[in-house]
Amino acid sequence: MAVPSVAAERAEALRRTLARYDHAYYVLDAPEVPDAEYDRLFRELQALESEYQELATPDSPTRRVGGKPLDAFAPVRHAVPMLSIRTETDTEATGASAFDARVRRELGLAESDPPVRYVAELKFDGLAVSLRYESGILVRAATRGDGETGEDVTQNIRTIGEVPLRLASLTVPVLEVRGEVYMRRDRFEALNARQREVGGKTFVNPRNAAAGAVRQLDPTIAARRPLSFFAYGLGEVVGWEIPSTHSGVLEALARQGLPVSADRAVVSGGEGLAAFHRDVGARRDALPFDIDGVVYKVDELALQQRLGFVTREPRWAVAHKYPAQEQLTIVRDIEIQVGRTGKLTPVAKLEPVFVGGTTVSNATLHNEDETRRKDVRVGDTVIVRRAGDVIPEVVRVVIERRPDDAGPPFDMRTVLGGCCPVCQSTIVREEGEVDWRCSGGLYCPAQRKQALLHFASRRAMDIEGLGDKVVDQLVEQALVRTPADLYGLTTQALAALDRMGEKSAGNLVAAIAKSRHTTLPRFLFSLGIRHVGEATARDLARHFGDLGPIMEARPDDLLRVPDVGPIVAQSIAIFFAQPHNREVIDGLTAAGVEWPLLTPTPREAQPFTGLTFVLTGTLPDLGRDDARARIEALGGKVAGSVSAKTSYVVAGADPGSKLDKAQTLGVKVLDQDALLTMIAAARQTPLGVTDAP
Ligand code: NAD
Repeated sequence: MAVPSVAAERAEALRRTLARYDHAYYVLDAPEVPDAEYDRLFRELQALESEYQELATPDSPTRRVGGKPLDAFAPVRHAVPMLSIRTETDTEATGASAFDARVRRELGLAESDPPVRYVAELKFDGLAVSLRYESGILVRAATRGDGETGEDVTQNIRTIGEVPLRLASLTVPVLEVRGEVYMRRDRFEALNARQREVGGKTFVNPRNAAAGAVRQLDPTIAARRPLSFFAYGLGEVVGWEIPSTHSGVLEALARQGLPVSADRAVVSGGEGLAAFHRDVGARRDALPFDIDGVVYKVDELALQQRLGFVTREPRWAVAHKYPAQEQLTIVRDIEIQVGRTGKLTPVAKLEPVFVGGTTVSNATLHNEDETRRKDVRVGDTVIVRRAGDVIPEVVRVVIERRPDDAGPPFDMRTVLGGCCPVCQSTIVREEGEVDWRCSGGLYCPAQRKQALLHFASRRAMDIEGLGDKVVDQLVEQALVRTPADLYGLTTQALAALDRMGEKSAGNLVAAIAKSRHTTLPRFLFSLGIRHVGEATARDLARHFGDLGPIMEARPDDLLRVPDVGPIVAQSIAIFFAQPHNREVIDGLTAAGVEWPLLTPTPREAQPFTGLTFVLTGTLPDLGRDDARARIEALGGKVAGSVSAKTSYVVAGADPGSKLDKAQTLGVKVLDQDALLTMIAAARQTPLGVTDAP
């Protein structure tokens, strides 16, 4: 049959695309598209080639296994080739019966013949390696490569603790063990989290991370990527009497100390296979590693031999897949979610896609840096991954599918116009932090529950009986929006809540009422200002004496408080600059929340108040800035020049004209030690602050 030119052109295009995807996947360990997409194109090419035999060129991706080995590694020729496995793409139970039917047909079995016995195993999603033991000692480990020639990765495989360097008892001349190197999902997540932290490259999936580690030229890097291994078969064997069944081989390997997955079964016929597929499918998310299907193998090795091989795969085995854990879809929008603590997370709104067994329409982009690093834009085609109970994630953009009208690079401030999308408070990203946050903690509806729980907590306002369950109901039934609303609650309203009797409602109202009489440090702490813990709240209270001056303080004023640095000062100032936060505070004081003023008010109480210091020369231990900070913390001023008003000149080595002037004017001169003694004495002055109501 003449090949229509459209078919020839399509086949050529598919071959070129698949060859490029193969290179990215097998050689670079950086897949461009998800397997599901690759498989779709692969099947399309297979179909064309089977319709028009002439199209099946010898270099077609459908004819070859894996990828070209990298030159950087020494080549290893496999005496027994490492093949692929035919894939049953029908993810339903019928996939199992289709395989059974094919095996029976090829073996020439009649319907009356007994069922064929199979071994069913997991299909680990990793990288195939061949371990060569000579006289019981691991002498070489190789990747599959193109199936004929692999790469010598012995150094890296040796770093995998689970791979025995010596077999338990077998000392036969040659035993090649075939198996899969993989990375557990929790380790993969941790690795990516680490990479994100240092701004490094993240991996698309555990398979990709494992393949990259095994083919790492530096074994110390491989050693830092925790890998695991499962054995599932044999390669070349010399001098060992191989058991007669595949299940026997697996048991023998396990006895030699090789890790063999316990998740395997010897089953009868297609129904037994389907049951295994179903059972594992139900547990797939709970497994600690990724699998993309299960593998069925004819158990009798003699039958395996009779069945033999086709081009790139044995006839006696098949991979029966599960729904893919990675799919392509389109980003419709990027929205910002506000978390319970005010953290702002960009989330991709996706064209709904079936992935990992569920329909996914949202996927986290983690934070601004991550979104920019992946360069995810509205309109992009992206790879979405959902595996295990990990939340769905956008792992990569398929750049060549970016439309001309794709959105601009992501920028949180621009997207949000600088305001929290929920409460319009100012958004803040502190130096050295990856997350943007909403600063309207007291008011922001997204942070309500968290804010109330913190407000009521023991070390804050100490409202006994106001726990999660009550807060959940109060917020959900809109009885409470801000902490100020707590003070208007009645016994009657509370008693109507689920699992709340008249008596506990009464107790709670009393506890809320009692909390009105508090202390300034507790009150400050209860506001949930970022970076203001109990100690900082106490320092602030001590320094300013009342809430008013704290609310009005500029960052510079706040910096005078001991242990308050620029980030904390900024955080406090921004918090009180939010009109909504101030409204809540007004509401609280209007509701009768009060605290004793701290007397004497600390500004006067500060022992250096009214004193002016001038620093000159180099102090032996204290830096200029340090000395200044210590003086200011106690209320003193540091001036640049000496005058009659100067209280002390602190002189170090090589003092300048300031010292002369001090002497002329009769200003007292201190050295470093004298200054430190003065500071120490001042510190012991009692300040009259207590934390008791
Ligand atoms: P395969 O990975 O589907 O199956 C063969 C492999 O299964 C073996 O080499 C072995 O490593 C592994 N395996 C896992 N558990 C096993 C077990 N219990 N017993 C035996 N073998 C087991 O086939 P393949 O030829 O290695 O690769 C094809 C796969 O690679 C497809 O899934 C395809 O989607 C993917 N691929 C993807 C891209 C891409 O761009 N995304 C490119 C190329 C290939």
